[in-house]
Amino acid sequence: MSRSLLILGATGSIGTTALNAVREGKLNVSLTGLVGGHDASSLSRLGQEFGCPCTLNSSSEVLKAFLEANRADIALNAIAGAAGLEASLLCLQAGMDLALANKESIVMGGDFLFSEAERLGRRIIPVDSEHSAIYHLIQGHSEVDSLVITASGGPFLHREDLASVTADEAAAHPTWKMGRKISIDSSTLANKGLEVIEAGFLFNMPAERIEVTIHRQSVVHSMIRMRDGSVYAQLSPPDMTLPIVAAVADGRQALVDVVRPLSFKGLTLTFEDWDRERFPLLQLAYEVLGKKAGYPIAYNAADEVAVQAFVDGQIGYLDIARVVGSTLDADWSAVADSYEAIMEVDGAARRLASSLL
Ligand code: NAD
Ligand code: MG
Repeated sequence: MSRSLLILGATGSIGTTALNAVREGKLNVSLTGLVGGHDASSLSRLGQEFGCPCTLNSSSEVLKAFLEANRADIALNAIAGAAGLEASLLCLQAGMDLALANKESIVMGGDFLFSEAERLGRRIIPVDSEHSAIYHLIQGHSEVDSLVITASGGPFLHREDLASVTADEAAAHPTWKMGRKISIDSSTLANKGLEVIEAGFLFNMPAERIEVTIHRQSVVHSMIRMRDGSVYAQLSPPDMTLPIVAAVADGRQALVDVVRPLSFKGLTLTFEDWDRERFPLLQLAYEVLGKKAGYPIAYNAADEVAVQAFVDGQIGYLDIARVVGSTLDADWSAVADSYEAIMEVDGAARRLASSLL
């Protein structure tokens, strides 16, 4: 019998890739429900095509009732942004495992999210390509020394006049086609910052054992360093279908012909260090992971406020890092160990970041 799957953020970039995998028979699942954020007409078209119920996430009550009524074996959370945390918790509480693309859930929820999953006897499987790579590499290895996360470096690795960057330029990613927020975060390396924090919580690694290397080709999705000095890497074409299918299948379905085999003809792989001055948002993320408590929540909230203000033309490109840095200068050392406490820190950080615009 095939696994059942519910998708949140079904109309977005990850949601669309997941539904294409179902259409193409790469993911053998029965869909129990689809949740979207705004685009009601696309969502109902998808509901008709796949013959399953769908809803807009109009309130916590609506979402909770929908998840309980349409419970699946596993939920793919592909919502963009902080709203993903509540959805992740509601999915776990409704009795579903989580294939988690929404990295904000992990950055904000941190230890609390994982203790909730454990309390409820549910699994969390990462979908982010780097974390998916590490998650699968790490199986069966106990002597892992550290993690090496690859970063494409975004569109501005060597650009001179960063101050004049426009939102459309920042959203044009060189190797991945993704939603607008994550694309802009990729250009500032805030996305890599969120991923360093995500890796810290997911794999229980301190900041000093997580390395970032710039790898322009996006073919090596991440690596693990072993204590014996060797390194294992996961390579595949830059296509989110594989991490999505692997997380949803979660070892219960053979994965065959999911992405085209990698060709080594003419393939060059390069690795380079990243520039701390050029990418302050990644540097800040390391400090945030070192401090934990409310800092990751404040980092994520301030970045969401700043990126939105940049898209709206309220601030310049370089101001994104300034707003996040100044927000983090406040004291976020109180530990938030409930959903309400997390959302309070999130709200306070948003208010502070908005006042700094
Ligand atoms: P996107 O903007 O393309 O899609 C977001 C989806 O979430 C849309 O369907 C939207 O309607 C829905 N949504 C927004 N707010 C919602 C809410 N409150 N309730 C329910 N649905 C809501 O974003 P994306 O690029 O698909 O990214 C989704 C998540 O996956 C993000 O957390 C991102 O960081 C992560 N991610 C994406 C990629 C990628 O390749 N796109 C890779 C790794 C991780
Ligand atoms: Mg990623």
